[in-house]
Amino acid sequence: MINDVQNKLTSFPIQAFQQDLINWYLAEKRDLPWRKDQDPYKVWVSEIMLQQTRVDTVIPYFNAFITKFPTITALADADEEDVLKAWEGLGYYSRVRNLQAAVREVKETYGGKVPNSPEEISKLKGVGPYTKGAILSIAYNIPEPAVDGNVMRVLSRILSIWEDIAKTKTRKIFEEVTYELISKEDPSSFNQAVMELGALICTPTSPKCLLCPVREHCTAFEEGVQADLPIKSKKKKPKPLQMAAAVLYDNKGNFYIHKRPPAGLLANLWEHPNLELDSVSGKTYREQLGEFLATEYNIDAELSELSGTVQHVFSHLIWNISVFIGKVKNASDTQLILVTEEELQKYAFPVSHQKIYQIYKES
Ligand code: SF4
Repeated sequence: MINDVQNKLTSFPIQAFQQDLINWYLAEKRDLPWRKDQDPYKVWVSEIMLQQTRVDTVIPYFNAFITKFPTITALADADEEDVLKAWEGLGYYSRVRNLQAAVREVKETYGGKVPNSPEEISKLKGVGPYTKGAILSIAYNIPEPAVDGNVMRVLSRILSIWEDIAKTKTRKIFEEVTYELISKEDPSSFNQAVMELGALICTPTSPKCLLCPVREHCTAFEEGVQADLPIKSKKKKPKPLQMAAAVLYDNKGNFYIHKRPPAGLLANLWEHPNLELDSVSGKTYREQLGEFLATEYNIDAELSELSGTVQHVFSHLIWNISVFIGKVKNASDTQLILVTEEELQKYAFPVSHQKIYQIYKES
């Protein structure tokens, strides 16, 4: 650990801090569905859902997911199509594909019981250092750090640590700090308390220091620098892509859809046929889309004028999609799948393509 941080810890009142933090947590914690018991499977599902997603959004998804797949075996044995459908709208779909692969491994290798050793659990697909620490501490009460951006923000303020939390190697420093700070008697409450403090009190902007249960231990508050911490360098801006998509239907009201490849962005999800546009071709978006449908999918369609636009922001990309509606005149030999409107509801589509379909419904 860097010397400066080590020095700060030497004079830090660890026990008093643990006590104030845990007492506050036990009295004030939110009543969240994954806190009803310490089932490692439920802790795992909730932690995966909560990555990049807000608690309010996760709650209904978590409840529906656990009702549909109540156990490791139920999720391991489920069709991927059903699992993706249950995740539809949550985004970052590789999370759930990895979760299912990992759960299958738990079923086969560990007899359906989530392993409680750091070495075994970290080998599971999609289980990084944060998820490992969260499951081990929350479900098994093992004093392992679970450090994410939230936790780094809180601890950087409490100990006045001025390391850039956007850098990968910084997490190690905070893991070492947590090993020192964590309650050995109740690591489950300790880790959840730090997360809860970050969610409710020590928020990214305007932390509520006057209500904070650990204010008297907080160096940033004492120095008046809580608004300057954590240090977080800016990420690269996402790259915008101009695209066009077509909602294609036939004269019986069926739809032509496409399954994305099994690897990469939004793998295995369904979509309306679309392409990335060429801004220097001199052709209109509609012309480019028409040619693409003909050459890529053997589809001859009568395309509408522009029906609407959809924007979707990923961490590294922005899709700006122009949406057209197409009545298919000829589709012999196409590799697209033809489905009824009812069947369409059973397939998992990313949010952007749900919005594209919505434009069709409203047109
Ligand atoms: S006193 Fe303020 S800055 Fe310090 S931990 Fe509490 S809320 Fe965060």
